[in-house]
This record gives sequence, C-alpha cells and structure tokens, in this order.
Amino acid sequence: MLNITSESPKYSFIIPIYNEEETIPQLYRRISKIIDDLDDQTELILVNDGSKDSSLKMIRELHQQDSRVCYLSFARNFGHQTAVTAGLNFARDQVIIILDADLQDPPELIPEMIDSWKQGYQVVYAQRIKRKQEGWFKRFSAYLFYRLLKRLADVNIPSDTGDFCLMDRQVVDCLNAMPERNRYIRGLRAWIGFRQTAVKFERDPRFAGEVKYTFHKSFSLVLNSLISFSRVPLRLSSYLGLLSALFALIMAFLVLYWRLHDPESTLTGFATIMIAIFFLGSVQLVCLGILGEYIGRIYEEVKGRPLYTLAEVGGFQSPSKR
Ligand code: UDP
Ligand code: MG
Repeated sequence: MLNITSESPKYSFIIPIYNEEETIPQLYRRISKIIDDLDDQTELILVNDGSKDSSLKMIRELHQQDSRVCYLSFARNFGHQTAVTAGLNFARDQVIIILDADLQDPPELIPEMIDSWKQGYQVVYAQRIKRKQEGWFKRFSAYLFYRLLKRLADVNIPSDTGDFCLMDRQVVDCLNAMPERNRYIRGLRAWIGFRQTAVKFERDPRFAGEVKYTFHKSFSLVLNSLISFSRVPLRLSSYLGLLSALFALIMAFLVLYWRLHDPESTLTGFATIMIAIFFLGSVQLVCLGILGEYIGRIYEEVKGRPLYTLAEVGGFQSPSKR
C-alpha cells in the first residue's frame, strides 16, 4: 500500500466521473503509470458527479488502496463543468491537471504538458487535431460550434480544445476566485490570460461505456458558452427588430400606394395579414427567447446558491476549511 500523505504534494489530477464503472480500472491503471513516473508527489482527485452505478464504491476502494487518491462525491448529478470546478476548489498543488475519465484524453500526454509548464507556461491545453471514431454528427457539430464561438466570443477561445489541460496554481486561484455560476471552464481559462500554449493530440474513442454528454447537456454547454462569452445574440435581436421595422415601413408605403393609386386593386389582405402576423410573432418570440436566456442566467447568479452539494469527501485532511 502506497502511503504519501505529506504536507504539499506537487501535482493534482482532477477527474470528473459520472457512471464510469467500466472505465475506472483501466483509467487508474494508465494514470498511476504516469504518476509513478513523476518524481514528485501527486494527488488524484476523483469527483463523483452523482453516479448511479458502482463508480462511487470503486472510488472508495481506490482511496483505501492508494493514499494518493482523494475523492469528492456530489449529492446528485450536477454536470461535468461543476464537477471539474469542485475539483479545482479542493486541489492543493502547484500544478493542476484536468482530464476526462473515459481515456479520451490520453494520460500519456501529461509529461509533455509538464515539460511546457517547466518552460514557463502557466496554462497548457490539449488541442485535438483529429477525433477518432466519433460519429459524423458529433464531429461536424463540434467543428461548427468552435468556429462559431471563435467569431462570436469576446475572448479568443482556442478551437478544438476541451477541458484537458494543465494549469498553474496562480491560474487556478484566479479561476476559483471567479464568482460566476455558469462555468464554461475552457472559456474562463482563456479569459484569464497568462502564458498559454497548446499540445496537439489525436482524440481516441471512448474506452468503454456510453457518452455521458446527452444531446440536452451538450446543447446547454453550447448555449452557456455562447451566452457567457458573447453579447452578439442580444445585438442580433436588435438587428432583427430593425430589419422587420424596415420591412414594415416598405410594406406600409406599398399598401398605401396600392390603395390610393389603384382603385381597381383587389387587396383582399387575408393572406398578407396572416403572413405578417406569423412573421412578426416569430421574430418577437425569438428575441424574447434570447433575452430570456440572458435574464435566466442573471437570475441564477443573483440567487447565489452554492454550485454543488457534497455528500461525501475522502482523503482531504481539512475539508471544512475549504
Ligand atoms: N461527466 C460528468 N458529469 C456529467 C457528464 C459527464 O462528470 O453529467 C464526466 C464523464 O464521466 C467524463 C467527462 O465528464 O469523465 C466527459 O464526458 P463524456 O466522455 O461523456 O463526454 P464527451 O466530452 O466525450 O462527449
Ligand atoms: Mg468522452
């Protein structure tokens, strides 16, 4: 049994876990190989995001066997970004590394990331140059999304990067100090600044199990990132309003002209009126929806609820201080 419980280990690994019982043994095997090769001390923070399978049991067992393994367990499923945030709140070390549990983020890339950190970069993010064996829809929608985000976002969020990254303590302290509830970590990471660099990699297929990001979860991540980092949708609704006002003006002149100068005209009107009502109605609803998305987020922020509730914590000496 390994026993490394000294004051300040050097590397913290954060891994969010949601129903990953099929991948945990292999994950642990591959990651401990990397950790064993690192000369310095490490902590492995597994964040159980309300898993319904035996993940938590397996995590507890790992914690029993290996004192480097610490864990947090949420009282329910709060989502990937929140799980990573919790890990960041609890991580104690100088260098913090985030990776997915499904081995799509190869742990073997970590030494290269650490080398870049040693060269003085405070953020080293992994950038996908290829996605292996992922469906065309996922590849296409991801491609489109990152390009759209690049055009719309106020900060330059690098394309094709996930949460797989290495961050220096200084960066993580800044991240932890950000009070916002809607956390799109790769966006916040880009917003923070500091010296950042990319390490390229080919993304492997999921090791086992189903994708945990349902369509609904992916869609809210997309909306969150667009709304948290861009006001373009709001501007778009102003433009839409202006455009339909212009259209209405032209139509008003045309209708008046026909009515006054062409007494023979049979302006029956029903179809035109219906089209106009539907058109204006939908423009208004779209704009209201956009406004609603922003207001909903303001509401979330104002409520000030904690980001997550913890049911269980293992391996941290003084969790109450956090
Ligand atoms: N995950 C999580 N909570 C969720 C969904 C996913 O903690 O509600 C974790 C999951 O266990 C995995 C990572 O987030 O470690 C990425 O999930 P997944 O591989 O399903 O998504 P992908 O990004 O590959 O589409
Ligand atoms: Mg995955």
